[in-house]
Amino acid sequence: MANLVSPIKGFKDLVSGVQESRHNLEEWQFIGRWQFVERIARELLPTYRYGEIRTPVLERTELFSRGIGENTDIVGKEMFSFTARGEREVTMRPENTAGVVRSYVEHKLYTLPGPQKFWYLGPMFRNENVQAGRYRQFHQLGVECFGSDDPRVDAEIIVLATDLLARLGLTGLEVQLNSVGCSECRPAYREALQGFLRQHQEALCENCVTRTEKNPLRVLDCKVETCGPVIRQAPPLSDYLCEACRNHQAGVIRYVESVKLPYVLNPRLVRGLDYYTRTVFEVVSGALGAQNTVLAGGRYNGLVEELGGPSTPAVGWGLGMERLIMLLSKSLVPEEYLDALFMPTTDDAELVAFQLAHQMREAGLRVEVASPGKLGNLFKQAERLRARFGVILGEDELAAKSATVKNLEKREQATVPQLELAGWLKQTQTGELV
Ligand code: ATP
Ligand code: MG
Repeated sequence: MANLVSPIKGFKDLVSGVQESRHNLEEWQFIGRWQFVERIARELLPTYRYGEIRTPVLERTELFSRGIGENTDIVGKEMFSFTARGEREVTMRPENTAGVVRSYVEHKLYTLPGPQKFWYLGPMFRNENVQAGRYRQFHQLGVECFGSDDPRVDAEIIVLATDLLARLGLTGLEVQLNSVGCSECRPAYREALQGFLRQHQEALCENCVTRTEKNPLRVLDCKVETCGPVIRQAPPLSDYLCEACRNHQAGVIRYVESVKLPYVLNPRLVRGLDYYTRTVFEVVSGALGAQNTVLAGGRYNGLVEELGGPSTPAVGWGLGMERLIMLLSKSLVPEEYLDALFMPTTDDAELVAFQLAHQMREAGLRVEVASPGKLGNLFKQAERLRARFGVILGEDELAAKSATVKNLEKREQATVPQLELAGWLKQTQTGELV
């Protein structure tokens, strides 16, 4: 065999047909889990009137530097950017809110009726230090709602998030809520925070010393342990909110509480992206170690205008699929299975098996055809493929136009006319699986 071409660090395969992790794969890489999440999400999102949007993976770099902000970790050091032939600089999207906003403006989607609600699912790219729960290609499921400044809409999008996670069977999650203020009140806080941080430079990590000057709010989001004590003493944003922002936050809380959704106020919660205004929130899990944020979002009333559209309030969130899938309970995710394996014992029987398999698939059954062989080996194959039935076709069966169907679990056997096989297998099919 020729030399192996290895994948790029932090870029992973998702694979089907694998049951055990002896293939050098982690459990979140089993694609059945992804399909399960996608199925539940596709059922739930339309009940909140979200419609799907798919935007390109490659966008102009300018979209992100303007949209996310020059002084963020993402734009500052995490983007995969390059110059494509005949183009200006382009970037593999590190997130999808900016892309959705670009599309919203370009296609004048604001002319659609009601608040405009979009969801997306796709790969994002960030050149980060790879570790558990942190990859260079990862996937986000996200929602964006444009056109309403009503705190009810902030609450609705938070409820949608927890609704989805609950339907996926996730427990032990915490919703954290904060307000990061607006262009009226944030400058005063920024200054106060900067003053405080300058006094504690010697206790901060190198990164935070730089952030203090460039983007002091980001210090609050630092994950370096030694920065913790300083961050905990920093003045809270809540002391600086203007009246409008305080009222908005009270509104969000009123709605969230009206459906008895548990949450905690985290006065130091900020987000890594510059475009947030007022509401920010995260859903965190105690079971994920250092990379504990599963879902994060907030309101971004300035972004649409920043990207050339009319002034439009908006709110959204993004969910890290890999981190979510790591949390899924094994018992919830149905395993891959086969309805029947056709087990021909001769070449003539293989031809009949081929025809019958075609009919079974038209009837919606999951079937596979084995190559002719000894029955003992064929049964072993059936077991490895998790087939519910083995359909034996030999000389006798061909002569009688029947099949010997063996229930591989119960070890029972029946003779079924070939014409009735699809109906017979369908009747015994159990509940819907992934
Ligand atoms: P973190 O603080 O963990 O770096 P972030 O603030 O950069 O997260 P967002 O940009 O808000 O994250 O993205 C939303 C979600 O996407 C995160 O909560 C996380 O679940 C997921 N996510 C972000 N970056 C990665 C990554 N490199 N690998 C896997 N998942 C990621
Ligand atoms: Mg990050």
